[in-house]
Amino acid sequence: MLLKGKPAADKIRAEIQAAVEECRAAGKAPPSLALLRAGRRPDDMAYESRILKNCGKLGIQADVTELDEAVNTEGVLQALDVLNNNEKVHGILVFRPLPKGVDEKAVREKISPKKDIDCMSPVNLEKIFEGGQKVIPPCTPEAVIAILEHYGYSLTGKNVVIVNRSMVLGKPLSMLFLGRNATVTLCHSKTRQLQDITAAADIVVSGVGRASYFGPEYFSAHSVVVDVGINVDNDNKLCGDVNFEEVSERVEALTPVPGGVGTLTSMLLLEHVIRAMRNQREAAGG
Ligand code: NAP
Repeated sequence: MLLKGKPAADKIRAEIQAAVEECRAAGKAPPSLALLRAGRRPDDMAYESRILKNCGKLGIQADVTELDEAVNTEGVLQALDVLNNNEKVHGILVFRPLPKGVDEKAVREKISPKKDIDCMSPVNLEKIFEGGQKVIPPCTPEAVIAILEHYGYSLTGKNVVIVNRSMVLGKPLSMLFLGRNATVTLCHSKTRQLQDITAAADIVVSGVGRASYFGPEYFSAHSVVVDVGINVDNDNKLCGDVNFEEVSERVEALTPVPGGVGTLTSMLLLEHVIRAMRNQREAAGG
């Protein structure tokens, strides 16, 4: 089975539309997202233009603060301070990686936890590791869980293998799976006998960032595979970490790239703006 991201993303889109309409009907300001970008890296620019397009279609206010590529840590912190203190801004997204020389840890510590829509603040990450229910999770790990749940997979008691141990994916995702009573193994570049470990799992999440790296020998006929990798193949086409042609017919289910996890991730980012707005309005008494 092909686990496409679009049906799950469409459901979230409808919820966002309803929330925006609710604001309009109540005479309240629309949800508002601030994007903070330093420099003009092509992948940041492409991501930004997709976000702006989606925000435009959905009625979410979106504004970009662009900093020079030569900005230092203080410059980024000052820009964040402005956004943190702007009551009209509900959610903030900082494009990463930041330019060399900018202390990312200081930036993560500076972002207001209330406006942090991709869980970069240590305050929010700690809640994820504690199993906090109310915190807004990082978008990509949440998208992995959401796509599995959308297609009706129960995670309780499942053996899950995640091939990635980064703070963006593997580590927080392991906590989200644990919170749903799965048994989780994190693998990485030094893992031995990776094939044996992945082939024995119920669910495999790949995030190694290598085009079509995983062939059928890494899976069984019962594997449910979530491919988080975004790579470019020799023909300059987008592809995942899993060799789609060789694997898709030989496992129980697989997410495509493009059209899988990434589709859901972008929509969840905007849903997080709605959640942040609601949390802030609730805390302010409506
Ligand atoms: P990263 O920090 O480079 O992490 C890669 C991970 O893969 C590391 O844990 C690394 O192990 C492991 N790894 C690399 N080669 C391996 C191998 N041959 N065998 C086993 N493990 C191996 O990258 P990231 O930021 O987490 O992103 C991972 C991928 O996800 C990228 O392709 C990125 O484009 C994609 N991504 C997708 C989305 C989405 O929305 N779909 C969002 C974010 C990222 P070590 O720790 O030992 O180095």
